[in-house]
Amino acid sequence: MADSYDLILRNGHVIDPANGIDEVRDLAVRDGRIALCAKDIPSDSADRVVDVTGSYVTPGLIDIHSHVYPLLPQGAANTLLTIDADTHMLRSGVTTTVDVGTVGWRDFLDFKERVVDVSHVRVLAMLNVASGGMVDMNTEQNPAELHPGITAAVARQYPDIVVGIKAAHYWVGRPFDEIHTPWASVDAGLEAAELAGLPFMIDFCPNHAKPGRSYEDLVTHKLRPGDIHTHVFAQQFPILDENRRVRPFMWAARERGVFFDVGHGGGSFWFRNAKPAFDDGFVPDTISTDMHVHSVLFAGLDQLQTMSKFMAIGMSLQEVVRRSTSEAARLIRRPDLGTLTPGAGADIAVIRKLDGSFNYVDCGKARLRGTSRLDCLMTIRDGKILYDPNGLSLPDWEEAPAAYWKIPFLPTEDEGEQ
Ligand SMILES: [Zn+2]
Repeated sequence: MADSYDLILRNGHVIDPANGIDEVRDLAVRDGRIALCAKDIPSDSADRVVDVTGSYVTPGLIDIHSHVYPLLPQGAANTLLTIDADTHMLRSGVTTTVDVGTVGWRDFLDFKERVVDVSHVRVLAMLNVASGGMVDMNTEQNPAELHPGITAAVARQYPDIVVGIKAAHYWVGRPFDEIHTPWASVDAGLEAAELAGLPFMIDFCPNHAKPGRSYEDLVTHKLRPGDIHTHVFAQQFPILDENRRVRPFMWAARERGVFFDVGHGGGSFWFRNAKPAFDDGFVPDTISTDMHVHSVLFAGLDQLQTMSKFMAIGMSLQEVVRRSTSEAARLIRRPDLGTLTPGAGADIAVIRKLDGSFNYVDCGKARLRGTSRLDCLMTIRDGKILYDPNGLSLPDWEEAPAAYWKIPFLPTEDEGEQ
């Protein structure tokens, strides 16, 4: 008997960087898993066949920097706000996101119950080494509230959810003192990461005015191979010299195995750093949004918009996909994700590339002109179609099955005779 499938995506251009696939193929799904990626899979072997001719089929995208749990915005005391992962990410092809440091150990269980356990998007976490995370940002400023041991213990207890440790926002622009030493949060985060056997992600602000906490020291000495600096193209990092060439220490850091993530957000992405760095060959390891309640409306921020922005900078479609799938999976050490390998969970994005005139903006309120934009046509998680606004998987209404034509709440003939 021929193989049977639940779903076949037919005739899409498959980009699966983990397997080196970049050509038109069919993709078959069975029992929520990738079954086969090959040319000309017989259409009669599937319950449902969706023609995706002219579109790209990629692994479900991975956004390794987001905030999808209520956080305390600056200047809004006592008001906790959040975005919903499903609402904002499924429409951008994202099937996995990593909430980085919104919660510390104190709020982790609530985060698990209210976000991780109920979202259709797979929500993973990098646990903030500060007890209150960004729910209580005061704890990020107080070295007594940095808890490497407890943080690592919680991380070890939930290895399926916690994929890293995060530190952020510590003592920005303030003078160091005996309590607030320059590297307190970095050292605590690294200690937690070491104890948990996980990567460390840092949102960093160097102190240029006084020696003691330089960006160069961070990436060439403090961070370990496999650790991640997010917000690499933010305005405060001296990654370029006066000739707009990438400084040697950045190459040295990359050589050591330090990773660099985009983490766009509302204030952390500047063309004046990203474009010259790209032109000099310095490409970010991963593309991520830093989507949160304040950044989400800014610049139409989502994963595909951020990927489109990098295409406008000069990156190929294949590379922006790779840095949003297999590379992202590599950084968070989840090689089971971001791939269309048979047996993997069937997380899939169907994307189209629109050609035309499109502008992109950065956090310094400057513009870059581009010639294409990526748009999501379909998002599938574990084999289930969760986003299909163009109805690619649906029948035309005239040909819809019997259930479509049934008028609810009318008495049936039997009931009428009673
Ligand atoms: Zn962030």
